[in-house]
Amino acid sequence: MIGRIHSLESFGTVDGPGIRFVVFMQGCPLRCLFCHNPDTWDAHATPKYQLTPDELMAEVLRYKSFIKTGGVTVSGGEPLMQAGFVADFFRLCEKNGIHTALDTSGAIFDEQTRNLLKLSRLVLLDIKSLDNRMAQTITGQSNENTLRTLDFLESEKIPTWIRHVVVPNYTDNDLLLNDLAMFLTNYRCVERVEVLPYHTMGAFKYEQMGISYRLQGVEPLGAVRAEVVRAIFRSHGLAVV
Ligand code: SF4
Repeated sequence: MIGRIHSLESFGTVDGPGIRFVVFMQGCPLRCLFCHNPDTWDAHATPKYQLTPDELMAEVLRYKSFIKTGGVTVSGGEPLMQAGFVADFFRLCEKNGIHTALDTSGAIFDEQTRNLLKLSRLVLLDIKSLDNRMAQTITGQSNENTLRTLDFLESEKIPTWIRHVVVPNYTDNDLLLNDLAMFLTNYRCVERVEVLPYHTMGAFKYEQMGISYRLQGVEPLGAVRAEVVRAIFRSHGLAVV
């Protein structure tokens, strides 16, 4: 099996605990308004790397001493589009004693997804919005599979970190934020919530790719407001970073 990989990062510090080797898979079924990696969207684009699970493992093992307190994170794009490949790779990581994290929006929910989730030591689940209309506005798809994924993580007791991008005029809304926080308190698998302030650092890629950036004019979320948003989640008893 060959994995279609957009890029690799050998010293990631923001995608899971510790220092991590991060694998960004090519292809995503969503089209988030704020996506800063539109170059990962096209599943048929020629990726930078095409590797077997063994070849990817060999690359990771070159950094084993650096990632011993962290591990490997597979992100995207959407790794669930290549769930079979990632599952084989995670099995190899397990054999080599390397911690695995899956960063996913939960956009695809099928047998392959469930197998992969069960092989993940940690899941970073991106909930774009609990409100389905808002989710559809942001991603172009319903949030149904994301919420089914969260239910599955709960039933399997898989440690989960929730990621939530807060975008002015969209998800930066006290009512929506409180609803999401309250909802998450029902899930014992949720160990923490990461509030990700919207930024515009990926906007230049849209221009390079000749596609329109639909959040043109939306300001980045300020640091003060981001702290207020974190306080909303904390006020519901959630651990927040
Ligand atoms: S799920 Fe991630 S990679 Fe896919 S469009 Fe959304 S932000 Fe971009």
